[in-house]
Amino acid sequence: MAEFEQKRKAMVKLVREYGVPDKSVLDAMLAIPRHLFVPAQFLSEAYANYPLPLPDQQTISQPYTVAIMLQALELKKGDKVLEVGTGSGWCAALIAHITGPKGMIYTTEIVPELITFAQQNIKKLKIKNLKIIKTDGSKGYKPAAPYDAIIVTAACPQIPKPLIHQLKENGIIVAPIGPWFGQKMIKAKKVKGKLIKENLGYFMFVPLKGKYGYE
Ligand code: SAH
Repeated sequence: MAEFEQKRKAMVKLVREYGVPDKSVLDAMLAIPRHLFVPAQFLSEAYANYPLPLPDQQTISQPYTVAIMLQALELKKGDKVLEVGTGSGWCAALIAHITGPKGMIYTTEIVPELITFAQQNIKKLKIKNLKIIKTDGSKGYKPAAPYDAIIVTAACPQIPKPLIHQLKENGIIVAPIGPWFGQKMIKAKKVKGKLIKENLGYFMFVPLKGKYGYE
């Protein structure tokens, strides 16, 4: 629909002006229709630069925040990526677009209702290089490890140990670290088995559940 396309272009322009120059991220945001990933009652707000509610008190993250995280992952075509926290599936769809048909995104979700929601959303776009896995993603997803990049889209007390093990040497992990009222966005590169960390600023996410989460 032309109206959505116009709003999507405006959203991408805003994200760029806020300070995300990465063309592959901006192109993905233009290509993937965010309105297919929001609950019906929020359709008119699908391209606003703020988070929107999902089932189970979860949220689809703010476009600018997602752009910052994806840019930080330094994704390349053909990369194998792990996401913890599928939610709506929007972020996973963006990664699938950036890494291209030779890339692969494994996205994990712990809430059954959201798995169904994300599956329905992804189906509309016929994305082939994306797998939704029902599991406690705080433990990672061993069968497909190691990964070129890992993104955690829920607030964690610290970077979950299994994720560090499942990251390739020179791989990058991005995760919001800290309590519910505010987290530091950490970008970390695995060099000689150790993480070299950088703080990308302060954000707000729903808490990570599961073994290495808060609940
Ligand atoms: N990336 C999502 C937004 C995610 S919100 C999007 O693009 O829409 C955070 C998500 O993490 C929620 O859906 C929540 O249910 C999920 N989550 C929380 N703890 C988890 C865990 N241990 N494993 C997998 N998913 C988890």
